[in-house]
Amino acid sequence: MKVMVAVKRVVDYNVKVRVKADQSDVDIGNVKMSMNPFDEIAVEEAVRLKEAGKASEVIVVSLGVKQCEETLRTALAMGADRAIHVETNEQLQPLAVAKLLKAIAKQEQPQLFLLGKQAIDDDANQTAQMLAALLSAPQGTCVSKVNLSADEVIVTREIDGGQEQLGLKLPAVISVDLRLNEPRYIKLPNIMQAKKKPLEKKTVAELGVDICSHLIQIRVTEPKARAAGIKVADVAELVARLKTEAKVI
Ligand code: AMP
Repeated sequence: MKVMVAVKRVVDYNVKVRVKADQSDVDIGNVKMSMNPFDEIAVEEAVRLKEAGKASEVIVVSLGVKQCEETLRTALAMGADRAIHVETNEQLQPLAVAKLLKAIAKQEQPQLFLLGKQAIDDDANQTAQMLAALLSAPQGTCVSKVNLSADEVIVTREIDGGQEQLGLKLPAVISVDLRLNEPRYIKLPNIMQAKKKPLEKKTVAELGVDICSHLIQIRVTEPKARAAGIKVADVAELVARLKTEAKVI
């Protein structure tokens, strides 16, 4: 069973991004970029499925600028078998990503898709849902447990009220949440091996997908600075202040 994992190159989660002087966007020149943390969890899960003998091949896909190759090499070092890079300098919105992934799925016929529940740059939380809709495939979002069998995957979802279990007929699309697993630490020999693994290049034109944007970004601004908090001596003072100053109780 082929498992396909979508990995996005994003600003590293430790970086505090700044808005460009002209407010046209955030400034990502010269900042550290990494694999989207949720996608690392998705790759880890796919590799574990392969190690458990439940998946035959793990294919990682990234869409974006040339440097996405580095992100794909990281996924290969984690244990993925091969990579596909759709190189483009265009800003891709979730619908364009979903359409491109669908076009690749048509060629590769994976039985299971693993995506992050959201990319930490746009925080859209849309791509997996759109991909499932385009493929008319069952979807499980915000998944914290995966139990894969030959024609079905049972997932546990993190929902507001607690947990929900769903059985999805394959092929299915899953978006993974934080508690699914802890991604492995990559060792040097794995990095060396990853350099020899296949990384195929594709273009948007080849895939025949219209990636034109349906949104216009008007302006990006910093959130308002928060006023400093205060420390109270005890609960009595807290209650008093909530009553008299904040007037919330
Ligand atoms: P989003 O809907 O933008 O929050 O992204 C959700 C997930 O879709 C990510 O965690 C990735 O698994 C996948 N994804 C989004 N954009 C890309 C991209 N450019 N290349 C590969 N995967 C992507």
